[in-house]
Amino acid sequence: MKKIAVDIDNTLWDFSPVFWEKLREINPAIVPPAIWNKWEFWETYVTKKQLYTAIKEIHLQQDCYLPFDGARTFLASLREKGFYIIIASHRAPETRAVTAKWLEKHDLAYDELHLSNDKSIIFKDLCAVVDDSPIVLDRARAAGVIRVGLRRPWNKGTDHPLFESLEEILAYLDHACETPGTGHGS
Ligand SMILES: [Mg+2]
Repeated sequence: MKKIAVDIDNTLWDFSPVFWEKLREINPAIVPPAIWNKWEFWETYVTKKQLYTAIKEIHLQQDCYLPFDGARTFLASLREKGFYIIIASHRAPETRAVTAKWLEKHDLAYDELHLSNDKSIIFKDLCAVVDDSPIVLDRARAAGVIRVGLRRPWNKGTDHPLFESLEEILAYLDHACETPGTGHGS
């Protein structure tokens, strides 16, 4: 069975503006998402503890936010193509119920929900990973797994396959998953 891991934040919904608002409550000087040009953009503005607290607060309120327009079709298309879908998100265990409820409420197809602080532990069984995090994309490449993501300010300087829409990602996966070896060092 073809297994795929699909990220949630900044992949299935627009997390970054909400995150920015939250971080501004801690430090009003923090710059906007359009110039988050590296994954660790927050380091000079907030502590790691403040960061994770802010993220968890957002995750616990997942119900207040809408998925991207194309998210439902994207996941439904993956299922139609025979993928076993693992929704994989860096989230605290306490956010599981609200996350599952959100996926179901918006009819976002999935087979398994993986929440942890290191999703690469599931990579060995996968065909592909969809994620915006340069760290996750690096780990997917190292594991020889096809990796692809939405282009964001914090990943645009990398050499991973990045696209503007979930529709384009789907087209890429159509090609990559039919071409053996695409995930290896490409
Ligand atoms: Mg993400």
